[in-house]
Amino acid sequence: MLIDSNEFKIIKDYLPIGVNLLAVSKGHHHKSIRKLSSYGQLDFGESRLQEAIPKKIDLNDLKQLRWHFVGRLQKNKVRGVVKEFDFIHSVDSLPLLERISRISQEEQKTPNIFLQVKFQNDPHKGGFIKQELMKSWSNIISLENINLVGLMTIPPIALNLYQRKDLFSECRNFANYLGLKDCSMGMSNDWQEAIEGGATWIRLGSLLFGKRQA
Ligand SMILES: *Cc1c(COP(=O)(O)O)cnc(C)c1O
Repeated sequence: MLIDSNEFKIIKDYLPIGVNLLAVSKGHHHKSIRKLSSYGQLDFGESRLQEAIPKKIDLNDLKQLRWHFVGRLQKNKVRGVVKEFDFIHSVDSLPLLERISRISQEEQKTPNIFLQVKFQNDPHKGGFIKQELMKSWSNIISLENINLVGLMTIPPIALNLYQRKDLFSECRNFANYLGLKDCSMGMSNDWQEAIEGGATWIRLGSLLFGKRQA
């Protein structure tokens, strides 16, 4: 079940200045998004283009909402995602970033981009590894129509909270080293550790909306 406005306020009050809340609404009804927006929430995350498009149509009167793509991005979905979303948190390879740049130029868009980084080997997750990202760095920053804002990471599920915090700090340090402001990290089960580690965007789903339907 969706949290009420008092519970929402408690979470918001807990967030230090500079930490933004992304409400990940995948699997939840557009009515829940509307309700949460009535508490003042403006940033919403979706992980599938096909699911996001009809919701955006239902919420078309709420012009102030900002949409964030957080799912694995397939090549053939890039144009749709560039057209529909303001932020992409899950750019996990150079060819994908180059494609986003090319299509963004064609669509006259400049999406805000997070590069997804993998700090530990994790066969379940995509992402740049550090060395690879450093090697491609000059290439990455030369791409047109890309507003590179930061790094995104998801810890391997096997890590405990202390290990997660260390991984989040490593992400923060790497972002600082690259001169990037934002770190998108922390979900319902580890958002406090992510804030301690230096997150600027936490991505909460079930904590706000309750259990997912699908
Ligand atoms: C679903 C999802 C979330 C939210 O997860 P919860 O555990 O429900 O908070 C955050 N980030 C990404 C990338 C997701 O896919």
